[in-house]
Amino acid sequence: MDNISESMKQWMDRNKQTEHYRQLMGEVYKNPDVLKFISDHKSELDEAHIDRSAAKLYEYVTEKQKLERGETTFAPGYKPELVISNHLVDVAYTPTEETLERQRVKSEKRRVKSISMPKLVQTANLSEFDKDQNRVSALREAMTFISNFEASPKKYHQGLYLYGSFGVGKTYLLGAIANQLAHDGFNTTLVHFPSFAVEMKNSISTNNVSEKLEAVKRSKILMLDDIGADTVSDWIRDEVLAVILEYRMQEELPTFFSSNLSMERLEKEYLTVSKKSEAPLKAKRIMQRVRFLSKQIEMIGENRRPN
Ligand code: ADP
Ligand code: MG
Repeated sequence: MDNISESMKQWMDRNKQTEHYRQLMGEVYKNPDVLKFISDHKSELDEAHIDRSAAKLYEYVTEKQKLERGETTFAPGYKPELVISNHLVDVAYTPTEETLERQRVKSEKRRVKSISMPKLVQTANLSEFDKDQNRVSALREAMTFISNFEASPKKYHQGLYLYGSFGVGKTYLLGAIANQLAHDGFNTTLVHFPSFAVEMKNSISTNNVSEKLEAVKRSKILMLDDIGADTVSDWIRDEVLAVILEYRMQEELPTFFSSNLSMERLEKEYLTVSKKSEAPLKAKRIMQRVRFLSKQIEMIGENRRPN
């Protein structure tokens, strides 16, 4: 920023006596922002100060005009502002509204961590969630969670267990909840559970199961998407799922699920498929945790997936 000011100052010093200069500066001193700034800072600025600040005032007016005309400015994404520095006028560059908005969206995106989630999650939005008869209750539950959680984020709040057939919008709703929470300043981790299970298995050989598992189980708000969609192994059930749910129950951390299966069917058709005699008991224990952590909501509706 010093370069532009310095070269402008040199130019002005060289041209001070010319008619062209007087014309330019005549415009600068007529500029309403400049006039207001000088009048607001009367007590700090005398004639000599203003005169010595000519290059800065000129820089301010020309950069502001460029910005208003949509031309490339000296500091793209920033807008000029007059300030007092060392008893003289200076130009400070502050982010424009658009820049601030872009930064806000970027930091919101960082608050949603997704593991193998479909892209639709990124743009899912509660206000665009179709409220047909059958889905309005799920939406209402989502809103209730968000307002209760945000009113007292340190307290325990039960999440939702959204179930229903393929394509009704379960994943979309989870994404929309996560995006709203991000907008309001809270971090969520969304995990496509079947893919995460594969990733866990693959991590055994590289010895970093626990690291990945720790990060997921400790996330402030966790959403396990599509649980029950694959065939679970004893190891995933006991060393991954049970570990996550046990921790979240003990720590009372909000946890969401989405599934094609109701809780009852999840227990029988997913968690108890193993032939081992201990399987029904293990399944029951996991279901106790799922029930503690979440409230079951059925989502009914047509398949909204294209083709
Ligand atoms: P599910 O997880 O229940 O199988 P998805 O959340 O993947 O269903 O939704 C299926 C499709 O419908 C996706 O393409 C998604 O973008 C779209 N969709 C779901 N809910 C909405 C909604 N409220 N508004 C617009 N599109 C939606
Ligand atoms: Mg889904």
